Formats: sequence, C-alpha cells, structure tokens
Amino acid sequence: MTFDRELPRRTFLKGAAAVAASASLARSSSAAENPTPQKMIGIQVGAVSFVDEGVDQVLDIFHERGGVNTICLATFTYGRGIAGRQIPGQPLPDHGKQEYDEKQFHGGNYATPHPQFYASTSLKQTRAPDFGSLDILEQVLPRAKKRGMKVHCWYEDVFRSDIPGVQPLQEIDLEGRRAGTLCALHPDYRNFLIGLTEDYCKSYDIDGVMWGSERQGPLNNAIGAYHGGRPNPMRVTCFCELHQKAARDRGIDPKRAMEGYRKLADFVRSALGGNRPSDGYFVSFWRLLLDYPEILAWEKLWTDGKHAIYKDIFDAARKSRPGVQVGFHIWHANSFSPFFRAEQDYAAIAQNADYLKVVLYNLCGGPRYVQAVHNIGSTIYRDVPTDELLHFYNDILGYDQRSEQELKTGGLPPDYVARETKRALADVQGKCRIYPGIDIDIPTGKDDKKTAPDDVYAATTAALKAGAQGVIFSRKYSEMRLANLAGGGRAVKAFGG
Ligand SMILES: [Zn+2]
Repeated sequence: MTFDRELPRRTFLKGAAAVAASASLARSSSAAENPTPQKMIGIQVGAVSFVDEGVDQVLDIFHERGGVNTICLATFTYGRGIAGRQIPGQPLPDHGKQEYDEKQFHGGNYATPHPQFYASTSLKQTRAPDFGSLDILEQVLPRAKKRGMKVHCWYEDVFRSDIPGVQPLQEIDLEGRRAGTLCALHPDYRNFLIGLTEDYCKSYDIDGVMWGSERQGPLNNAIGAYHGGRPNPMRVTCFCELHQKAARDRGIDPKRAMEGYRKLADFVRSALGGNRPSDGYFVSFWRLLLDYPEILAWEKLWTDGKHAIYKDIFDAARKSRPGVQVGFHIWHANSFSPFFRAEQDYAAIAQNADYLKVVLYNLCGGPRYVQAVHNIGSTIYRDVPTDELLHFYNDILGYDQRSEQELKTGGLPPDYVARETKRALADVQGKCRIYPGIDIDIPTGKDDKKTAPDDVYAATTAALKAGAQGVIFSRKYSEMRLANLAGGGRAVKAFGG
C-alpha cells in the first residue's frame, strides 16, 4: 500500500503553478514574518445580532466591552453554533431580541452570492433567506472600516439536505446511504468553497477569511472518539465512488476497507451493549487494525481530503485578494481525543495558513471532555474504569489531574488554555499566528459550568501571556452576556490592547 499525502489533482487545480507563485509572493510579506505589535482581538458574530441590535450599536459594544479590533462575521453556515440567536432552551443573554428564532432561522450565505463565482459547481442557490435581500457584509464592512476594525468572513462546513443541487455532493456511509455531510473529494463541493472564497475576497473589501470544519474520519467516529452523542458505527463516511477511486490510487482495496469497517461496527455495537470479547475490548480492537490496516488507511484518506480543502481555500483567497489573512478554526475534539489531535498536525496545517484559531473553550470544555472520555470509554477502553481512563487521558493530553466532578462544575482551568497555546506556538514555529478561541457563554448542561466574567478574564490572560498573537471570543455574540465579554476586554486592556 502507498499512502501519498497528496490527493489526485483535478481540473479545479488548473493554474496551480501560478497560484503557488502568487501565494509564495504573498507569504513572503505575511504578518507572520513581520509581526505587528497589536494583538488581534476578534469576536465571532452572526448577522442576526446586527439586524436585531443595529450595526453601530453592536460595534460600539465590541470596542468598549471587549477591546475588539476584528469582526469574525459568520457569513456562511447552515448551523446554529455560529449563526442565529441563542439556542432554544438556553437562557437569552442581556441584549438583542428577547425571543428565540427557531422558526425563522434557515442559514446559507448572508452576503450576496455573485453567480460568476459558482459556474463550476451545482451549488448555485445558497443565499440565506433569513433577512430577505440583506447583505450583511455591505452593512457591516463600511461601518467597521470607519472605526479601524477589520472584518474576516467566517464560514463552516455545515450544510442542509434541502439546498438545491446538494444531494450528489453528499457523503455515502457504510450502508450506502447519503449523509448530511458533503464529500471533500467531490469537485462540485471543492469548487463551491473555492468560489465562495473568491466571491468574498473579490466582491468585498475584507481583511480575512476563516474556515472551520468540525468533522473527522470514519475510524474516529466509529469508536466514539468525540464529545457528541453515542457512536453509530454504520453511519461513518465516506465510501462514495470518488473515495473508492482515491483509495485504489493509494493501493487500498475498498472492499477490504468496508469489510473491516463492518467488523469494526460489529465490535463497537457489541461493546456498547457490554458484551466483552474474551480477549478484552482493547486487544480485540487492536487485532482488527492488524487484520484490516485499511481501516486506518481510510481514516487517513478522509483526513487528507479535509485538509486539501484548507489548501484550496488558502490558495483561492491569496490569489483573489493581496494581503488577505487566511485562518482555520481547529475543532474542540483536538482537546479531548488523542486520535483527532494526531490528525491536527499544526506544523503541516501552518504551511497553508496565516493563522489558526485553536478552539480552547475551557469552560464548556470541562463537561465536553468528560463526555468524550465516557464515549471512548464505552468502546475500545471499556475495560478501564472512567476515573482511571480520565487520569490516563489527562496524562497523555498534557493536562493537570482533575476529577470528573471538578471538570463538569468547574470546567478546564486557564492553565489548559496556556498549555495548549504554547503547544501550538511551538509546533508552528512562527509559520503562522495562533489565536486561541475563548469561551464566552457557550451553552452547557443544567448543572455544568457556566461562564463568569473572571473566567473570561483568566482564559484571555492565559492565552495572551502564553504568547498568543491574539484571541477570538467565541462562539457567537448572540449567546454572550455583556459582563462576560467585558471580562475578556479587561484582560485585553491589561495587555495594552
Ligand atoms: Zn466521498
């Protein structure tokens, strides 16, 4: 078997040499090599907040409370994590419309899609209908510029199944069903993201783009190596024709891979039911990997596809707008799973990035981490008592020991933010900047840790003290309480921001 890092080049990479040349020119003058003294203080915000509260009013709050100088404006998503008002069921914050928007939230492109950028994709109609013909970039950009604030378009890998033309782009699971997620090897998907990036960079006077994908490959998903719900090992992706072809190009037999994944699914379902194999859970899992190395190879194939998109976006942005800053949001699973962390090679990602927004949400991070340990402890590590597994995970992930209860009610400590910031800085070696994502009021369960102003102060201070070149207040302004945002602002001020 061969495990080429590069995926097959497709027609959308025509002119790659020209792109590379312009990218390297642009990089030579990048801020990573000429660091500016001012820290980047970003905040994530969706269109709805500007609509509800007024553009100038919101920008005033960002500046006065948070010391913010960069708006990470959620311009494209179908998800509620970064757009829309507060998630129903969670308390509304002390600003904005005091009602939930579950009925009017749809998602899509909150700017204007210009058709010429979507000629090579079937995804042509993605305009968000939420606010009629409103173009949020047209509204926010001039007013932000007037104040000397920068604007980055912030978009993510969350789609709906009712978008016109989306179905052929959807991933295929182990049973041949279409998934709600899109296939990174499908040229129409890749071309859509390239077109979207070009559209933002050429149609608007923006300062940056930031892309995020909170997804991982089929092995990690099958064994429950994440902080979501219970693993469903038959729903893992992607086994479409394009993935099968790319696998064959690497010398991986798709039939063997799918057979391996079906056996893995049998193992996981059996483990979830508490049916211990005679050799134990971990040994049986490892034996599967020995018998079917294709399982691991498919995980790598999937991950390489995801990261090829980062390069697409970096190249598209750089050739479309000189000086534009390109950043990537690194999913929180990076903090809870050594398997996903191993796939987040900061040094490699930094080759095609100006900055990484490493998610270091420490407050919701406590309960999320506990959930992740329970999840992986229900499959491959089922023989290990949860407190011992947590102890082991703390050691291999590099955290101080904290009990499950402490994590749930207290979150991860600011020290976690500092350590993970330093680790990222050490890995990228100055090739790109590190802007930790700071947790402000990210929803948690009823008895779990909730944000207080001093928490945000402590996490922001920890990131900046550790050497981060900035921070990004997350996930969205429409779920943040003003006093908590001000806690971040207090830390920024103490750093001379
Ligand atoms: Zn696929």
